[in-house]
Amino acid sequence: MPPARRRLLVTVAHPDDETFGMGSTIAHYAAAGVEVHVVCATRGEAGEIAPGSDATLDSLGEVREAELRAAADVLGASSVRMLGFRDSGMTPAEENGDPGVFVNIPEADVIAAFTRVIRDVRPHVVVTMPPDGGTGHPDHIRTCQLTTKAFKLAAHPGYIEPGGLVHAPAKLFYKEYPRSRMRVFLEAITSERPEMSEMLRKSGIDKFGVDDDEISAEIDVSDVLEIRLKANACHVSQGSPFDMLPPDMIPEVLGTDYFTRAIPAWDGGEVERDLFKGL
Ligand SMILES: [Zn+2]
Repeated sequence: MPPARRRLLVTVAHPDDETFGMGSTIAHYAAAGVEVHVVCATRGEAGEIAPGSDATLDSLGEVREAELRAAADVLGASSVRMLGFRDSGMTPAEENGDPGVFVNIPEADVIAAFTRVIRDVRPHVVVTMPPDGGTGHPDHIRTCQLTTKAFKLAAHPGYIEPGGLVHAPAKLFYKEYPRSRMRVFLEAITSERPEMSEMLRKSGIDKFGVDDDEISAEIDVSDVLEIRLKANACHVSQGSPFDMLPPDMIPEVLGTDYFTRAIPAWDGGEVERDLFKGL
């Protein structure tokens, strides 16, 4: 009997996070024969609509879900699950009084939803968004926090809420970006397009990410660059942030993916070159 296929679960907040954040990781592992499953908390209804898209405020959720499914196909993902919560927008959680949006859904309900997926997919490795959300978006931050809780509870026999057989994935990673790399790319963007500097400064993007010595896994994903660029292009309603970069920097920017290992906590030892190392 052939050995069981390895399984990777990717949890994200909005359609496009799977591609702009983790597309190369998905494509790299799918190409290596790993089953890659994607779960997305919301349909991204509160996103801004990029010029050139015919999406409307009413259709945006539907359009973005279709873009996610198209991108996941390009990347080679085995499945996409939508949890169906509503996008909170960039409004901070404490100011967002709408009970229907993702940040205001009771924590227990969100944890149950993520746990159900973990017990169903039974991944060896889980990858989610970074603790600062990568952009500070409250839905990204919540996806990280509650995926982490679900990761632990999925293995707990006393946690029966979502049903399903208990399952303990071996490792949980946060997809990160080293600040030193971010600085190089921001300089490249602003030297090419000085008009972008004010917008980038205001976004505070340079404050996100981690110091280089916190990176615990560094994966060479240069093998899937073409696939990644095709998946980026599926997200017409959002526009790819990588379109801002000088084209000759693209292979460098998208050639390596970086992670911190949350569980088991990394102790500063050897940097892993494969998320499945040791499994
Ligand atoms: Zn997002």
